[in-house]
This record gives sequence, C-alpha cells and structure tokens, in this order.
Amino acid sequence: MISWIPTDSVALLAAEEAEWMEWPSVPFPEYTHDRLREFAHYLLSASGGDLSAGLPALSSSGLYTLLVVVARTAGVGGEPTTLDRRIAAQLPAVTPALLAELRRRDYRGLGDDPTGPVHRGRLLQLVGAFTPLAPLGATFHQRQKMSGACPFCSGAEMLQVSLPAVTWRCFGCDRSGGLREFAECLLTRALQVLERSAAPGHLS
Ligand SMILES: [Zn+2]
Repeated sequence: MISWIPTDSVALLAAEEAEWMEWPSVPFPEYTHDRLREFAHYLLSASGGDLSAGLPALSSSGLYTLLVVVARTAGVGGEPTTLDRRIAAQLPAVTPALLAELRRRDYRGLGDDPTGPVHRGRLLQLVGAFTPLAPLGATFHQRQKMSGACPFCSGAEMLQVSLPAVTWRCFGCDRSGGLREFAECLLTRALQVLERSAAPGHLS
C-alpha cells in the first residue's frame, strides 16, 4: 500500500484492488435496505405524511437517497426494498415530483468540479447501489474503468463507469451519460413499474 492512495478508495475496493485506484472519490456510504427504510420513515414524519411536500427541504444527498428508495422499491436492479404501505402508496406521485425537483436544482449540490471526487463518489455510490462494480482489469487502460451488470437491460458486465470522465455507458442497451442520465434512467424505469402496478385491473 502506498501513501498517496486516497483512503476513500479503500472503502470502495478490496485492499489489493485499492492500489489500482488512481481516481479519488468521496466515500459516500453504501445504500442498505435498512438505511433506505429508515430514511423513508424519517421523510414521512418530517414532511407531515406527504413525501412530495418534503422534497424542497431535502439536501441533494437526501434527494439521491430518495431516488434509490424509489428505484429499489420498483425492483430496478435486483431484490426490491419493501416499504411501509403508507410510504409505498405515495411513490407513483413522488417519482415525477422527485424528477422535477432534481431538474429544478439541475443536479447541483455536488461540488463544482464535474470530474472531481464528489461527483465521482456520487456516481460510484449511485451505480453501485444497483450493480456491484469491479475494476475492468489490470492494464493502465482497464484501471480507468469499473464494470458491472446493467440494471436497465441486465447485460452482464456490459455497463462501464469511466473514472477519469465520471461517465457511464452500457454496451448492451447503449444507454450512457453522467450522474444526471443515470438518475433519469432510474426514475423513468421506476415510474413505468410503479404506474403499471398501480393501474386498476393490473394483472401481474
Ligand atoms: Zn444496458
């Protein structure tokens, strides 16, 4: 282990992988099911029972946590998080409101540098909440990328995150972009699922 390796990269990777990591990123914590449920309950009580009404008061970190709550509950990228009914029932209405709030703030509050450690950490945290990421390989070129299964088309190891550029791309479904595009793909997918399951006469 050499001293210039940022400690936060150790939080994301196993020790032997950490020395491949040359791109510093803020170590945002992993989203666990418990953490997501706890946050949803907190928001429900803080907003007087109306989640959408609570959105303007949320920090950007809170908005991203809610984004993961919504997408996970809709079953994007794996095992769904189950929520209290009072919360789950509001998600079809909260999802467009959340999208509007993120757009209103233009995904700001992430630090000034779009390829800086804050943005990189947030993208790794967000993508990592839906697919486990691992370095692409050991060569110089491969060490600049993390790869995993795509949560939108389920293409195994098709999704790659470019660490220097702080962007992602799926070679299966050709979706790509930065943090904003990943957030919007999650919300679009979640909304389709939530509206379908809320529709009267829905069969399965
Ligand atoms: Zn894909």
